Amino acid sequence: MDALSDWLRPAEVEETLRRVVRNDAGRVRAVLDKARELHGLDADEVATLCGAGPELTEELFAAAKEVKEQIYGRRMVLFAPLYISNVCGNDCSYCAFRAGNKALKRTALDMDAIRAETRELVRQGHKRLLLVAGEGYSKARGGFDYILDAIRAVYEVTETHGHIRRLNVNLAPLELDEFKRLKEAGIGTYQLFQETYHRPTYAAVHLAGRKRDFDWRVTAFERAMRAGIDDVGMGVLFGLADWRFEILSLMRHIAHLEALFGVGSHTISVPRMEPADGSPMSMAPPAPVSDDDFKKIIAILRLAVPYTGIILSTRESAAIRRECYMLGVSQISAGSRTNPGGYSGDETAGQFQLGDHRPLDEVIAELATMGFIPSFCTACYRLGRTGRDFMDLAKPGLIKQKCDPNAVTTFLEYVLDYGSDAARCAGEASIACELERMEAKTRRNAEKMLAHIRNGKRDVFC
Ligand code: SAM
Ligand code: SF4
Repeated sequence: MDALSDWLRPAEVEETLRRVVRNDAGRVRAVLDKARELHGLDADEVATLCGAGPELTEELFAAAKEVKEQIYGRRMVLFAPLYISNVCGNDCSYCAFRAGNKALKRTALDMDAIRAETRELVRQGHKRLLLVAGEGYSKARGGFDYILDAIRAVYEVTETHGHIRRLNVNLAPLELDEFKRLKEAGIGTYQLFQETYHRPTYAAVHLAGRKRDFDWRVTAFERAMRAGIDDVGMGVLFGLADWRFEILSLMRHIAHLEALFGVGSHTISVPRMEPADGSPMSMAPPAPVSDDDFKKIIAILRLAVPYTGIILSTRESAAIRRECYMLGVSQISAGSRTNPGGYSGDETAGQFQLGDHRPLDEVIAELATMGFIPSFCTACYRLGRTGRDFMDLAKPGLIKQKCDPNAVTTFLEYVLDYGSDAARCAGEASIACELERMEAKTRRNAEKMLAHIRNGKRDVFC
């Protein structure tokens, strides 16, 4: 075992799974009762839920729905990924960008192209983006400085109704001083997926490049947090190894960061392996996750770490996404392209196949019709409510007084500036309904903020 990651203790995880995972209705119900107290769950409790049989699924989902509703209400944060480069020195067996895929046309967008992509996304109504790149950062374009230039280019773009207010990044692990420069560049969350916590599987699927080093990757958040980036986003690529092992290990990763820095993961992403060009493995994942298990994973995570955002991408179909909204997902991407230049019309193959191809406005209109409040809020990050400060507000339930008005306000901005008739109609109804549900003081604040927006003011937040 390597000292750098001995906190992962895979043998203990396996022992917990052997000891606890069985379908024990009494135990499962006791854990669900505890989860409703909103204090999260320990490893044995998470393992107990992993063992819940199909006859207990509805009870599991009902508890997850309750917890989601309590903490996140009807808000759903929207974002889009911005792929700037598919140049990559690694060979991850599941990915179209892997160095071994010689058929893929390689591109690292220049700053004009990055600005053009950003402009297109701002014109659609986006305020939050996730910058994504292969590892290697195109030496021809300046190595790591290329990323910093790209971040600047995104923030520079201003269109009639707005600009990008929060740029998160999903980038390969960096050195401490690079993380410091990333922080200075004004990123929101630093996101990185471990892919799998199962070392033998990790070694088998990462064939070449720096990414072969498991420990370098699993210690990246420690370097990021030491560099002052306190919002980090974890993830596992489901389909590589047993999902029960993965979520218990993810819990250990979160606990490890909490012990070191007083705060764990700001978000968890749940990418499930999709077919990718030039990747035979992606067509037949070694540990496929069924739709039922996928929904179960989301529900269990929601109960285990109630204050951690759960992110669902357009890898999943519209139908699955619809089902997952209530189970605990708090952020979704929409209208995504996973090829650099894709928003400006480039048709090179993306990183993997998408399941939901609908444009942003259609997703928004549907969310509003379902009673959700699509939110473009970026207030916490811009007011310094990040990391531990965010959790200190979230855990006693105080963040709701901020999130609810910010969500309806940013949604009204969308509706007025970009919304189709369908989005506008469903949006106004959903906002009116949301106001009815707010406590009197929060509602007064929200109404004041909404009045500013109707009077032409923009970027109003609390
Ligand atoms: N290249 C960096 C890295 O690997 O960390 C940055 C992000 S990579 C472009 C984004 C993520 O896409 C990976 O972490 C991986 O989990 C996911 N991914 C790769 N191939 C995939 C596939 N076939 N289906 C679904 N997700 C995939
Ligand atoms: Fe490169 Fe990331 Fe794809 Fe691996 S997952 S091949 S590191 S882009």
